[in-house]
This record gives sequence, C-alpha cells and structure tokens, in this order.
Amino acid sequence: MAISEAGKRQLLEASRSLGVEIGDKLDRFSEYYDLLVAENEAINLTALNTETQVIHKHFVDSLTCFLSGRLEGFLKGIDVGTGGGFPGIPLAIVNSGLDLFLLDATRKKVEFVNRVCDRLGLPNAHALWNRAEVLGQQAAHREAYDRVVTRAVSPLNSLYELCLPLLKVGGFLIAQKGPEVEGEIASARSVEGKLGGRLLEVIHLKLPVIGDPRSLVIVEKVAPTPDKYPRRPGAPQKNPLS
Ligand code: SAM
Repeated sequence: MAISEAGKRQLLEASRSLGVEIGDKLDRFSEYYDLLVAENEAINLTALNTETQVIHKHFVDSLTCFLSGRLEGFLKGIDVGTGGGFPGIPLAIVNSGLDLFLLDATRKKVEFVNRVCDRLGLPNAHALWNRAEVLGQQAAHREAYDRVVTRAVSPLNSLYELCLPLLKVGGFLIAQKGPEVEGEIASARSVEGKLGGRLLEVIHLKLPVIGDPRSLVIVEKVAPTPDKYPRRPGAPQKNPLS
C-alpha cells in the first residue's frame, strides 16, 4: 500500500521543517511504507500501524538525526539495533553519500531490512545480522565508523559499550532518546570516559506537526576504546558498566 497523497504532503512538509528536502525521494519512502505494512504482521516490526504514525513517529522521527548537523557528506556509519530500519533507512534514502550498515541481532528483522534495501535500490545501505558486542571486537568493524546512530535499543550506560567501540577516534555517536534523558546521562557519566567517549551535547527537539518531545545525545569519540570493551555478548545490557 503506497502512502496517500495527503500523507506524502505531510511527510514533505514535516521533513522540510527539519531542513531536510526529500522531494525526489518520496517514492522510496512510499515503497518502504508499503513493505512495512505488508510484512509487519508476520515479522512484528512495529506497533505503529497507521499511516500518520509511521510517517511522523518513524520516518520524520528518524530524519531528526539530521538536526545533529553531523550526517551530511560522505561518511561511513552504522545503525546499531536498526529493527525495521530506523533511523538508518530514512537517513540512507536522504543522504546517498552515507554508507550505512544496518545492524540487528534479530535475523528476521535483518532479512526484512535487506529486502527493503533491494526493493528501494539503496546501494549505500547494507543489512548486517550480528550483535554489536561481537562486531566491536572484530577488526573489520572496531573503530571503523565515522558515525553511529541508534534509537530505542538500551539505556545510555549499556548503549555506550555497544556503540563507542565501533567509532573511529574523532567520530560521533548520535543516540535518539525521549525527552527525559538527564537521569540516564547522569548514570552514564563515568561510563563514557572508560570507553573513550565524551558527551558533547544534548539537543532537545519536538517532532514537527505532532510536537512530541525528543532528544539527541551526541557523544564524540576522543580516545581509543580499551581492548577489554565491549565485553562478551549480553554483558553490556545485563550488567552495565558504572
Ligand atoms: N531502532 C529500531 C527502532 O527504533 O524502531 C528498533 C528498536 S527495537 C526496540 C531494539 C532493537 O535492537 C531490536 O531489534 C533488537 O534486536 C536490537 N538489539 C538489541 N540489542 C542488540 C545488540 N546487542 N546488538 C544488535 N542489536 C541489538
């Protein structure tokens, strides 16, 4: 099912108010929507199932990552815990210079994301089935990315251990969070330094049109991550660093 004409106008206008121009890419968003709706029941990709919810709470919400000002140009990135492709697929549609790996630990979700990449013809997006802790200890992925993006995966104290080992020194983590992020930030303050990160800024924002509050937590990788991190699979989330 394609996005309705009214839905396309909403998506165009909401993106524009984020400073993101998607005019010639609307058909790709529409095809993505079509696949999400067709496969959601079988794979359980999202609880949001009206057109308006998908447009605003998935597509536009993902595009708010551009408000970080750190996703333009040619970059190698990874979306940790992409699920049904958020925020990675919308970012890869908009910036074809962003070479983006879409990582998830759940095979059926990764297979879905792979089908989306094929159908939309996104040569800059690559679905990857694995755990972040495993990739973080592999030479091909450790400290290999300019950007890590992530949404709704883990609290910051464990998220940092999943994400920061993947970043090059000088790269940035852009973590999408809800409005009440200060407590999480406080309990992760001692963790980011252990992993070579430094909290740079928190951008508070509201989703265009629907006004839902969100924040972007931006962490810079300022030093190499010690070899012992990430710990074995499961450990960062079961027993977060403190
Ligand atoms: N980012 C998507 C979104 O916002 O719609 C999906 C969020 S979903 C709540 C969390 C996803 O993170 C799940 O698909 C799960 O399989 C994945 N995940 C959790 N821990 C992970 C890990 N250690 N490595 C890779 N993926 C992980």
